[in-house]
Amino acid sequence: MTSMRVVVDLTKCEGYAQCAFLAPEAFRMVGDEALMFDPAPPDELQEKVLRAAAACPVQALQVDMADLPTPPPTATVSADGDDRLRHEGRIVIVGASLAGLKAAEQLRAEGFTGKLTMIGDEPEEPYDRPPLSKQVQTGWAASADTTLPRRRDIAADWKLGVAATGLDLEHNFVTLADGQHVGFDRLLIATGVRARPWFVPEEAGLDGVFTIRTRADATGLRERLLAKPRRVLVIGSGFTGSEMASVCVELGIPVTVAEAGPAPLAGALGGVIGRIAADIMREHGVDLRVNTRVDSLQGEDGRLRRALLSDGTTLDVDVAVVALGGIRNVEWLQGSNLAVGMWGVACDAGCRAFDANGLVTDDVFVAGDVARQPQPMFGYQFLAMEHWGNSVTQAQVAAHNMISGKTDRWPHLEVSAFWSLQFGNNIKSVGVPVIADQIAITQGSVDKRQFVAAYGYKGRVVGAVAWNQGKWLDFYEKLIEQAAPFPPPYDMTNPPADPTPVPAEFPAMTYPGRDATVVVTGHDPSERRATLVRGRR
Ligand SMILES: Cc1cc2nc3c(=O)[nH]c(=O)nc-3n(C[C@H](O)[C@H](O)[C@H](O)COP(=O)(O)OP(=O)(O)OC[C@H]3O[C@@H](n4cnc5c(N)ncnc54)[C@H](O)[C@@H]3O)c2cc1C
Repeated sequence: MTSMRVVVDLTKCEGYAQCAFLAPEAFRMVGDEALMFDPAPPDELQEKVLRAAAACPVQALQVDMADLPTPPPTATVSADGDDRLRHEGRIVIVGASLAGLKAAEQLRAEGFTGKLTMIGDEPEEPYDRPPLSKQVQTGWAASADTTLPRRRDIAADWKLGVAATGLDLEHNFVTLADGQHVGFDRLLIATGVRARPWFVPEEAGLDGVFTIRTRADATGLRERLLAKPRRVLVIGSGFTGSEMASVCVELGIPVTVAEAGPAPLAGALGGVIGRIAADIMREHGVDLRVNTRVDSLQGEDGRLRRALLSDGTTLDVDVAVVALGGIRNVEWLQGSNLAVGMWGVACDAGCRAFDANGLVTDDVFVAGDVARQPQPMFGYQFLAMEHWGNSVTQAQVAAHNMISGKTDRWPHLEVSAFWSLQFGNNIKSVGVPVIADQIAITQGSVDKRQFVAAYGYKGRVVGAVAWNQGKWLDFYEKLIEQAAPFPPPYDMTNPPADPTPVPAEFPAMTYPGRDATVVVTGHDPSERRATLVRGRR
């Protein structure tokens, strides 16, 4: 038996610290409410970890259950479902990572007993990526230990280390790089994104230049950080870049962050929050250069030695972490006639892929970072949410719909949520802040680094961010679902010094915004529905 595997759904975690109290060797609080966990605690901790999982008030801890007797299917089968498909069908999942695994578990949980094939181009079983830029780099967990726990035995035919290279929708098969053809009755596309490389290939190839998306990336970077480089250059200060700057500070390594925009996190959370993030970076000794581009990376004997910046300075660096976002893995779908492009694979609210003519397919589904779905709460805009929690819920909805009849399909109506841990701060957000035009601090104190801010678009709440105040986000999630007025008109607990809304200062409006026209009702995926709202302004 492998040693125990653990993952914490940090979207759900509210920092109650029961796990850190019951199994302190495996769970550790950072700051007031952020949680760090060991994804593969030693066997002797098994009982403690199971107790911690049972005690978690929000049930955010997931541990291996695959070795336990398989529980009966959890969902009821709809009368108009296809029994042959459910019992003898062939389902192929391309992309053996978080979304792929969660979909597989859901299929088996709902009683799918047919043939399940998991295709992944990485050689490993599905593993968890968030620790790669956090506890793996600080040395609290090994990169090799991040394998995702199994909630049940998925009895799959695994084809790992081989990429899907084509999709034939006329004859329903996937072509693999080794020439195999794998036929299907239902297909799930879950190929995610890859890291955007440094844009000059010769410079990207220098020893010491890293991106961070895979386990191999994380292992290589960790080794280099252990060798105490003179200075690390982080290129880009979105979430991953900021987390890497935080890691360097924790390891005592001098770090420069070069950010082409006006502030860290400004692309995701706007300029107001970006200025707070910039202050925090500088307070921790990060050499932050905003409105600054890296012009070139230079090496000697194939190793990175220095970087030239657009502010005219030259930095001596041994390591550069390129954190410039991702590229969606859609190339293998070219020629398939699906609606794919740089924004991902378009699908309907039930995760069914669209073809190039905008017609919905019945047998091809999409989930995870590669999926681009209409968001009813945000004017039905097609948005791709590259967040852990979104991948899980979307995969579960897609899996359910793959084997359900048309009267029993679920819409994917989850309000997207994200977390990040940096400089001891637990940052969490819900909704889609990036479409906002205004922001208001609604609770707490920015100076104390404990606050919540709500985002508004045309007088409605569309998002919120919490800084070391994650427990409040459920409340804001409901406001978003109900298209509540912005700024929220409530007497908040712990009111801020100044709740006046100000411009949110997003660098450029990437998404066309529209008024919300729906509210969401229901609590679990089976009953959640969007309801059109009439006559509200
Ligand atoms: C360093 C890092 C830190 C993160 N931190 C956070 C965080 O703090 N909070 C948060 O909410 N989210 C975080 N995320 C995002 C989260 O990990 C992703 O949302 C999640 O991994 C998406 O899962 P996925 O299965 O959709 O895609 P992926 O995990 O990208 O998996 C897709 C898989 O498909 C494979 N694949 C691609 N093309 C093919 C092909 N043609 N054939 C076969 N296989 C293929 C890929 O190699 C990969 O294994 C982080 C991500 C990274 C990289």
